[in-house]
Amino acid sequence: MAVIITQECIGCGACEAVCPFGAISLQADKAVIGDACTQCGACVDTCPAGAIRREAEDQAAAMDKSQYQDVWVYLEVAAGSLKNVGLELLGEGRKLADAMGQKLAGVLLGNNIEALAQEAFAHGADQVYLVAAPELARYNTDGYTAAFTDLIHTYKPSVVLLGATNDGRDLGPRIACRLGTGLTADCTGLGIDEATGLVAWTRPAFGGNIMATILCPEHRPQMGTVRPSVFKRPVPDYAKSGEIIKVASKVKAADIRTKFLDLVQVCTVSCNLEEAEIIVSGGRGLGKPENFCYVEELAAVLGGAVGASRAVVDSGWKPPMHQVGQTGKTVGPKIYFACGISGAIQHLAGMSSSDIIIAINKDPDAPIFRMADYGIVGDAVEVLPILTEEFRKIKA
Ligand code: FAD
Repeated sequence: MAVIITQECIGCGACEAVCPFGAISLQADKAVIGDACTQCGACVDTCPAGAIRREAEDQAAAMDKSQYQDVWVYLEVAAGSLKNVGLELLGEGRKLADAMGQKLAGVLLGNNIEALAQEAFAHGADQVYLVAAPELARYNTDGYTAAFTDLIHTYKPSVVLLGATNDGRDLGPRIACRLGTGLTADCTGLGIDEATGLVAWTRPAFGGNIMATILCPEHRPQMGTVRPSVFKRPVPDYAKSGEIIKVASKVKAADIRTKFLDLVQVCTVSCNLEEAEIIVSGGRGLGKPENFCYVEELAAVLGGAVGASRAVVDSGWKPPMHQVGQTGKTVGPKIYFACGISGAIQHLAGMSSSDIIIAINKDPDAPIFRMADYGIVGDAVEVLPILTEEFRKIKA
């Protein structure tokens, strides 16, 4: 929250007028800041008397940053296993930790999850912070925020990485806000800034037209979310071991304002794009929504997921959860089929790290062929059923 230096306030009301959140009121000719304050700083810049400070700036000035050490990775658990994104981040976290001369730790929150620590060690973690409690058995915003924030207050990591998944995008900003630190969302690149030794968080900005590199110089920990599949999983070494630091949970059932009622699986294998090893994607070149069945049939035979271009999603042929690209999902499967997809830069941004790209397009000059490892020039509606049939024979 912003802080009013009451003796300096001249009661002019400029801050009240400029606050976009209606968080400031004048009481007895002095500005008073309410709970709606987001520390956006509009009032600080406007106040002619210099009577407003950001609380976070006070905290930053008082913070001893040398106490903050080590790189942490949030390890998301789904159906009893670690999600790929956490393992991918352990690979990148290892590089950051080595460059900073610090340790790499995974953070595991849940219940009955201790066995997963070995997977984290195999993927590069030196340590795992483990908070196990029935209240954390499923992801919930209140419990996980409290448990993770508590860990950070106690052990003071320098860097915290989270996946830009539904849960990571929910959890990361809440923790950052509680700690009064910054978070760079949806990063596509991580490095170390040579001049400062800080983490250089790179992410697309202005609709992907520029890449912005962001530093967090004043606050700790430095935090960021990273899209799944941007980085490759490191090759695991199961001979490695590490230290498990068990921390008792202080979360009580009463602290959790939501209640788990039911799990409704809206989509299974076909839209689990981030974890898929094979993705078959379709674009506008399929001609009409009914022709998408050819993409789905090939995906089913290969046990892969179904992707779509934005043109297809915008036309209502497939729901947004299937969209691949800059404003959809970033994927990195072993094999990516692009069927009737032109290869616009925004689509490529989401799938270019695939190991093998196979494109089917009737235009031999389509940009997708410049990215593809294998190209089939032809009508996708004719080619797809032939491919499906051939793969079916191989599998039989
Ligand atoms: P088209 O560009 O229309 O291409 C259709 C292709 O199919 C053509 O190459 C054509 O030769 C081929 N074709 C036609 N008939 C056949 C046939 N019978 N058989 C085989 N091939 C055939 N797009 C995304 O996909 N993902 C995103 O996340 C995304 N984000 C965006 C964000 C912004 C800010 C903007 C401005 C755009 C974004 N787009 C995104 C849109 C992107 O620019 C393209 O418009 C989109 O990817 C085109 O989809 P498409 O390739 O299916 O369609």
